[in-house]
This record gives sequence, C-alpha cells and structure tokens, in this order.
Amino acid sequence: MITIEQLKHSSDLIKKTRPAYQPILDFYSQVFIAQEQSRQDIVLPPVVIDQDLLKIKQTNKMPLIDQSEFLIDSKAAGQLFDNICDLAVDFAPKLSANAKFLKKIDLAHSYHLNTLFSVILNNQSSTLHDLSRLWNIPEHELIFFGYSAIAPSIWICAEQLEAYLIDMPDPPKGYCPICGNYPDMAFLDKTGKRHLKCCFCDHEWETKRMGCTFCENNDNNMQHYFFNDQEKEYRVNLCDHCHNYIKLVDLRQMDRTFYPKLEQVTTLHLDMKARENGYTSYGVLSNDGSN
Ligand SMILES: [Zn+2]
Ligand SMILES: [Zn+2]
Repeated sequence: MITIEQLKHSSDLIKKTRPAYQPILDFYSQVFIAQEQSRQDIVLPPVVIDQDLLKIKQTNKMPLIDQSEFLIDSKAAGQLFDNICDLAVDFAPKLSANAKFLKKIDLAHSYHLNTLFSVILNNQSSTLHDLSRLWNIPEHELIFFGYSAIAPSIWICAEQLEAYLIDMPDPPKGYCPICGNYPDMAFLDKTGKRHLKCCFCDHEWETKRMGCTFCENNDNNMQHYFFNDQEKEYRVNLCDHCHNYIKLVDLRQMDRTFYPKLEQVTTLHLDMKARENGYTSYGVLSNDGSN
C-alpha cells in the first residue's frame, strides 16, 4: 500500500512535468490523502457470502456482490465528507460554494448525508435527481462528494472479499469480479501483464493482454491506440467495435509510485482526445467536473 509520503512525492513529480495540472493536484492530492487517512480509522465487519450462493456465482460467472451490498462505516464517511467539503472550499474554486452548502446540510440534518450515501450505493438515479434539484447542486458533484466519502469503506470491503475470488473463473467483458462495475483504468505491471482497476471498488485484476476490455473484440483492424512521445507511460486503447476507450499506464515506463487515482485525474487531456474522436468510456464515475 502507498504511504502518504509516496503519494505526495508522486503528485509533486507530476506537477513538475505537467504544470497545467497543478491546481487540480493541489486539491485532489489532499482528497486522496484524506481518504487514505480515513481508511485507517474504518471499522467494518466482513461481507459474508454463503457457500451455496458462491457456487452459483462461480458457475454463472457473476460478480461476488451487487454494489448495494458494500458496507459503509457511516461515522468515518461523515467525517471524511466534512473534510473533503473543507478542502473544496479552500482548493477547488468551482466547487467551493456548493461545498459550503453541503457542509451546512450535513451539520443540520445528518440523515440527508446518509440518504446521499445510500443513493450512490444503490445507484438510485431518480432520488439523486431529486436531491440535485432540492439542493440546486449538479448530480455529478453530489456523486463526487458522496462517493469520495464512502470510497474508503468500499475499498476495505473489496479487499476483504478478495478471499472469495480464489476459485472464480475470469469475469466476462471487463466486469469487476467483486462488484460487477466497469474498469476505469488499465495498467501493465513490471512484467508486462495487463491488469484492470474497478471504477467503483478499486479492485485490480489481471486480464488478457490483447483485445478490447469491454467487448472482448480481438480483431487487429478494430483495435487501435494512441500515445504521445512526452508521456511514454500512457497509452489509450480504442475499440472500433464498441467505441469505448480505456487509458493504460505502463508501469515499466514510470519513475514514480503508481497511485491510479492520481494518474486518472492528471490524464484528462487523454480523455478529451479520445472523446473528440468519438469514443466513450463506461468506467467514469467520480469526475466532479471541477476542471
Ligand atoms: Zn469493483
Ligand atoms: Zn470493444
């Protein structure tokens, strides 16, 4: 696991090579540090899956749980929510006013906060829409604040669930074997093996080296990528069959400790380029639109 020092160091190295991301990193690196610190305070019982159910999931290549089954340490999440609102007030000008408002709501009616957490966990888009109208805050910002606060609990649940994956077959079409969400990033480890990272629970799993992550198309004429010479550690894989893209980080080309979320928020120029060319990505969840 990455230390706070390593996280800061990686963030500083990125700022040096890509100064345009300095303001974004000033905010996000502190959010990530707050999340890592919160992770250490979390107390949660493990999610238990009984043997019969596990067999059914194995046979049918289903993910271990639905995302609504993740457990949340609501005390730790509430505190983290508060911290992230404070960071946004100080470091994210575009989120600042809404962060102040959310903090007030949290202090006055803590059940609202639990509603927000549960809406995100249960993926209830109509209730999210209602909250967004009620508070006059865009849905993607609510998702950003709410998800960022519950994320450490989700990561811990996912880590505990990994023990159940031993006899699981490879998941189909890039679905996370733990929660069934899509990956938001791929990476090649030091030996060149390809891994995917879940956009929701952060679980990382090894996958086939070739072919589209999302539709499994393996036709050379349909699979492309782009990169630029100044950023040898990144590549963007594009699929002309399902029109999705995924960013891939090559750890063999990297001179800093790999913290996927840090790379995620400092490669928005690659997302833009992929989108301009007509590709989309399933695995985008917590982009707050603050940049
Ligand atoms: Zn997952
Ligand atoms: Zn595809």
